[in-house]
Amino acid sequence: MRTWVPDARNFAYLNWKQVDALPREKTLLVLGTAAVEQHGHHLPLATDTLCNNLLLGKALELIPAEVPIYALPPICYGKSNEHIGFPGTLSVSAATFMAVIRDLGASLAAGGFQKLVLYNSHGGNTSLVDVMARDLRAEFGLRTFSLFGSPGAKFDGVSEQERTYGFHAGEIETAYLLYGTPELVDTTAYTSNYIARVDEPELLKPEGSSANFAWLTRDIAPSGVMGDPTAATAENGEKWVLQAARGIADRLLAMYAFEPKHGV
Ligand SMILES: [Zn+2]
Repeated sequence: MRTWVPDARNFAYLNWKQVDALPREKTLLVLGTAAVEQHGHHLPLATDTLCNNLLLGKALELIPAEVPIYALPPICYGKSNEHIGFPGTLSVSAATFMAVIRDLGASLAAGGFQKLVLYNSHGGNTSLVDVMARDLRAEFGLRTFSLFGSPGAKFDGVSEQERTYGFHAGEIETAYLLYGTPELVDTTAYTSNYIARVDEPELLKPEGSSANFAWLTRDIAPSGVMGDPTAATAENGEKWVLQAARGIADRLLAMYAFEPKHGV
């Protein structure tokens, strides 16, 4: 899988003697979590994994050289059973996903590391990442953090409808890959589809409401797209990636320096 993580920030490029020499109680490790799943007719299966790595890699370029923050090899397979039925989707169960993160946390704790970030780029993993961040804290005493998506990206010019319901293979993911891997975007194969509208208030929504219905992509989005990619440009992709890289770098530095406050 292609990576934008600088070699000097790639944990798996170290040998064990180099790892042994790290200030392990202070070192912040970042585990990307993503997916290999259908992304419509125009984007590759690896879209979430590529976006995760692109944003994290650009963020790590902004970290001062003396600050020990490393990217672990990501978990490319996520809980993607909403996309089963579209050829190419490779999903793991919630139990498998959580067990892998738990076992990696055990390995890191056994190696003397104390600080771990779970950086997630796939909506189907979100609630599991929150669960595991707490469980690793409770079981191994790891100082764990969860980080999601593109903090700091302004997405200027993206409509309210697209911001709210363009969450799969829509304008933003398409713009990211037009910037990062344009050779993997088929701009002749765009389809668009919204599963709800912001201007039609409904009591039951697919996402982000106080009452949601559980959805499977095949029920609501025949092409696999939830959003509208047609306005995506590489220029916007680059701008938003760099904004998000700054936002992610700032949060990683805050996690590196974090000390919990008691009873403020
Ligand atoms: Zn995606």
